[in-house]
Amino acid sequence: MTFEEYNRLKENIDYHMDRYYNQDEPEISDYEYDQLMIALKGAEKEHPDWISPDSPSQKIGGTVKREAGVKVTHRVPMLSIEDVFDKEAVTAWVNKVREMHPDAVFSVETKIDGLSMTLRYEKVEGTDSMKLALAETRGDGLVGEDVTLNALVIPDVRKTLKLPYDYLEIRGEVYMTHEDFDRFNEEQERLGKKLAANPRNLAAGTLRQLDSSITKERGLRMFIFNVQDAPADFLADHGASLDRLAACGVQTVYHKNCATAEEVLACIDEIAGMRAELPYDIDGAVVKINQTAYRNDFPSGSKYSSGHIAYKYPPEERVVEMDEIIVNVGRTGKLTFTGSFHDAETGKPARLCGTSVSRATLHNQDYITDMSIGVGGHYRLFKSGEIIPKLNGCVKEPETVFVAPSVCPVCGHALIREEDTADIRCVNPSCPAQLSRTVAYFTSRNCMDIAGLGDTLVEALIREGYLRNYADIYKLRAYRDEMVEKGIIGKEKNTDKLLDAIDASKKQSPVRLLTALGIRNVGRSTANELMKHYEKIQDLAKATEEELVQLPDIGSTTAGDIVEFFSDSENLRMIEELAKSGVNMVMEKEEGGSDRLAGMTIVVTGTLPTLGRSEAKELIEKNGGKCTGSVSRKTTLLVAGEAAGSKLTKAQELGIKVISEAELLALIHGQKTI
Ligand SMILES: [Zn+2]
Repeated sequence: MTFEEYNRLKENIDYHMDRYYNQDEPEISDYEYDQLMIALKGAEKEHPDWISPDSPSQKIGGTVKREAGVKVTHRVPMLSIEDVFDKEAVTAWVNKVREMHPDAVFSVETKIDGLSMTLRYEKVEGTDSMKLALAETRGDGLVGEDVTLNALVIPDVRKTLKLPYDYLEIRGEVYMTHEDFDRFNEEQERLGKKLAANPRNLAAGTLRQLDSSITKERGLRMFIFNVQDAPADFLADHGASLDRLAACGVQTVYHKNCATAEEVLACIDEIAGMRAELPYDIDGAVVKINQTAYRNDFPSGSKYSSGHIAYKYPPEERVVEMDEIIVNVGRTGKLTFTGSFHDAETGKPARLCGTSVSRATLHNQDYITDMSIGVGGHYRLFKSGEIIPKLNGCVKEPETVFVAPSVCPVCGHALIREEDTADIRCVNPSCPAQLSRTVAYFTSRNCMDIAGLGDTLVEALIREGYLRNYADIYKLRAYRDEMVEKGIIGKEKNTDKLLDAIDASKKQSPVRLLTALGIRNVGRSTANELMKHYEKIQDLAKATEEELVQLPDIGSTTAGDIVEFFSDSENLRMIEELAKSGVNMVMEKEEGGSDRLAGMTIVVTGTLPTLGRSEAKELIEKNGGKCTGSVSRKTTLLVAGEAAGSKLTKAQELGIKVISEAELLALIHGQKTI
């Protein structure tokens, strides 16, 4: 690859990256995109000097990729604590310690479900204060990452300590409260972004952020649970050292000294009882020998801290009472069912694996019936894979099991239950729940191709009451002055530009109009096939199922969908309105049409010198060819333009004939044969 080719490839990838990440409208498949990236990385491996920060290989979705944190070797290894899962094991361990050291005391503490961080403090010369010198994550226990800049924005992390020592190292748990976690996820949901799985994961990601302003905004907290290194007198009594830190304003973990196994177990239960009320997550209770000098007598392997055990609480499951079954109509018309409930014991949202849960999807009517779901029923709730809340069986039956409505809760149109899935759907294209989707589809490039009438504007026009169905698009001109005044589309110039584009779209082929109607199972190629046999849309509207199944490529499902669509009086009225507005319903007797490409399956790739992608497709179809998106053994010809990528490679591999646009035109005009 030459440097020039490399630069072109970079531009090409940038373009597709933008389509994918910023415009949400990819033009190529993920596979093709990956192929471009592989080619780019291959070139960069061969010519490392070509790499610059603006290379797509250095970016993640438009932002520059961050460097990983700086590694730090821990002075004192950050070990784990050995888990035990039953109380007998706790008793046995406590008794073993007491046998050797009858005066042993045990500190029982909450085990915060977060991530570990160590803080190093150093003396400020000439004072009896210390300042934070370094904050490090646990990493593999021996080497972690320097996260000092982020630690500085955590309010619980003291920047200075009023202690007269040269050196102090303390360890604690960084966590996120339920409130901060829920706030983050609500915002993500509002933005349509990915939700965080639980507060621990989010806290970990937040602490390792390279932009500390993000860390600050999300809100992290910290509890100190151990002194890693300090002068001997400070270290000796664990509980006392935590109390001394607390006196300096340090947030220390809940801890209580216990003398016997009975006291230890009672404290473990006490912490379990606090669990539901705590504003953050804990996943167990830690039991430590309070006299640090005794700890090394009870080693438990190189991975674990000596003289510590952690009792883990059993996995969480809550019983919830169903309050409401919420029915929504999705943008595709599909009904969704969501159960809204509260914890039968606490009366609040259920706390499970670190999140507060008050809703779960109920899938479909079959699921609802099988699970006997209804208002007042009690159900076991758990989280599958710690992320998605799921109902797990009925504990107490409701008085009545919920039954889905028979008409759309949004528009009142009769609902269709699909045979093969248990889905229930509203198929009214003017249904307000689906309108923004149906209109945006109608105007899209593959349909009526009205440039400038995209999602955002469609939504604004619906909100302002100008669009109640897609026939209304062609009535917009009547409201020109009003819209200019309100500035919905823009000022005069932009408004006129859009209205002109709408008028121009009236001349589009009925194939596009038929596609735009959004009849189920009728995409562009089916529409094309159909309109070869009907002179106008209104003729197709009169076709019977028997007639339609005679056509090539039309199965009984599609035929049924078409007949159903045109038997709806509301849809017929809309077709009439479109016709009245001057939208073209009649197939032109095609000039220049031929059957010179009959029987050929043709793929177009790259940028052609004169023809746009859809123009090329139309031209191929007009001349009897079939235009498909991907190269396979069935492909007859590949028309390749500038910057043709993986399709070209594949065609060459399969030995498929590759031609230029000029050769395609020559073929169509009968000046050439293959
Ligand atoms: Zn509806």
